[in-house]
Amino acid sequence: MIFRSVTENVFVIVGPPAYANVTALVLPSRVVLVDCGIQLPAVEETKKEIEEIAGHEVDTIILTHFHSDHTRALPAFSDCRIISSNILSKNLRRAGRKPPKGYKLTFPNESFDDESAIQDGNVRLIMKRTGGHTDGSTFVHCPNYRAIMAGDNLWINYFPWGGAKNGDPDSWIAALQNYMSLDVDYFIPGHGPVGSKDDVMGLVDYMQNVRDVMKEMIALGRTEEQVLRAGDEVEYSVSGIAKPSTLKRWYKVWRART
Ligand SMILES: [Zn+2]
Repeated sequence: MIFRSVTENVFVIVGPPAYANVTALVLPSRVVLVDCGIQLPAVEETKKEIEEIAGHEVDTIILTHFHSDHTRALPAFSDCRIISSNILSKNLRRAGRKPPKGYKLTFPNESFDDESAIQDGNVRLIMKRTGGHTDGSTFVHCPNYRAIMAGDNLWINYFPWGGAKNGDPDSWIAALQNYMSLDVDYFIPGHGPVGSKDDVMGLVDYMQNVRDVMKEMIALGRTEEQVLRAGDEVEYSVSGIAKPSTLKRWYKVWRART
């Protein structure tokens, strides 16, 4: 089985073959995917699997952000309802990716500014664009299934990559605080296993600590190198190759705002 069961209505692919997490929400009359992963050849199989489990078709895709590890397989869903924020849709068009042979160029066919929702029977999915990891970053909240799909504003067991030029660490921190205010049990990240409120709290604490340290150093007139070194010394449970470019981007934003 490619999908792992989180609850009887929530299934997740963590890591390969999708690479970025893909969540399948089994609603009363349909299956909704949150993000679709990167690998087109694997999609047919995963789609078939979840449709067999659910007894319904996958007919709706909601995207959390435009990065290719979350959207590259979109051409496999060209006949579906594809929902995203307007900014995400614009970012995806601007990325200018070519579809693989035999597939057509596919973009969201429904978009919203800041918030939208879909209803199926008694189950509601709420989508909110918060920005953060990218300017179009959106989370999906299902109060009925007590789950939130955070995309790449949440990384569990991985260092959160924040090097994107259209990313904003202040919006990101605010988004994480927003997630913590929700009455949910399952926090599904863009990368890594399904987590709990503690995982969100760990990340928000870390980002706030880095912000405090960097802003203080910037206010004292320290050099970029000194500020980055101080930021690098802030403790966190994971590190990785994503760290230097992330800290550099956050420094740039906070220097401009200090
Ligand atoms: Zn990602």
